[in-house]
Amino acid sequence: MSSAAGAVTDALRELRTRFAGVRDGEPADYIPQLAMADPEAFGLALISMDGHRYSTGEVDVPFTMQSVSKPFVYALALCELGLDGVSRWVNAEPSGEAYNAISLEPGTGRPDNAMVNAGAIVTTALVPDTADTPRFDRILDCLSRFAGRQLDVDEAVYASEVATGDRNRALAYLIRSAGPLPVDPVGAVETYFRQCAVRVTTLDLAAMAATLANGGVNPLNGDVVVEEPVAAQVLAVMATCGMYDTSGDWLLRVGLPAKSGVSGGLIAAGPARFGLAAYSPRLDPTGTSVRGRIALGALSERLGLHLMHNP
Ligand code: GLU
Repeated sequence: MSSAAGAVTDALRELRTRFAGVRDGEPADYIPQLAMADPEAFGLALISMDGHRYSTGEVDVPFTMQSVSKPFVYALALCELGLDGVSRWVNAEPSGEAYNAISLEPGTGRPDNAMVNAGAIVTTALVPDTADTPRFDRILDCLSRFAGRQLDVDEAVYASEVATGDRNRALAYLIRSAGPLPVDPVGAVETYFRQCAVRVTTLDLAAMAATLANGGVNPLNGDVVVEEPVAAQVLAVMATCGMYDTSGDWLLRVGLPAKSGVSGGLIAAGPARFGLAAYSPRLDPTGTSVRGRIALGALSERLGLHLMHNP
């Protein structure tokens, strides 16, 4: 192993050891099935552009993607409609609000961005059924190609999500009432629940982030999942909006495009360098993994990963 590779492995192990004792936060319980996660599970993984995998901890424990699915479905909508086509219906401005804010842009009725729930429901709606493939199957295929293996749905989490999803349904009705969106967000919200319930591991998320960092090419198998401009557009929106109302602080301190999810998954990407993922279900009040946030922040500092840093 080269000394650089050794430094990555050492850093992941040391940071996991340092932060494994953090007991702040609890697993999400507003989706009851998520509350059953092991609060002590803690995995960290990094995948480089040559497909090398570095990891430590519970990186093979399955959990659901939740909002980490949003950038990848945004990518699929961008492939379908192009940036201008998607931006007519979903803006790309940081909202400064929580993930589930009941809020649309005055005048246009557009959600602020594709990383908050309102915007994600619209991007899911913008992925059409094709003659032989329903919308959800296209989404699952896209997520699977980003991960480099066939993913599936955690049906128990999906059922829990459907049973408790009224706020997201309310958002879908609000979007439908507010504007001329040519597709039905109310029907799409049920697909959104299912995309949130797609099951991954920390290593899968690292591969997905690495594919974005690698210009849309999965570094594990060479699959061209999306074109390079789409990967860059997704990373840009992750940088400004991926951490909800802490996105500015995250970019300031950690300096990497990122996306969190309420099951405790967190991804970050270093363009042309690496994909990173953390999993730990203890959440802070913004719905982000407590240990994931501090571990990726410390890793960025230790390895000099901040994009604005001039080494
Ligand atoms: N399924 C969750 C919701 O829509 C995802 C939220 C998140 O991960 O931030 O409420």
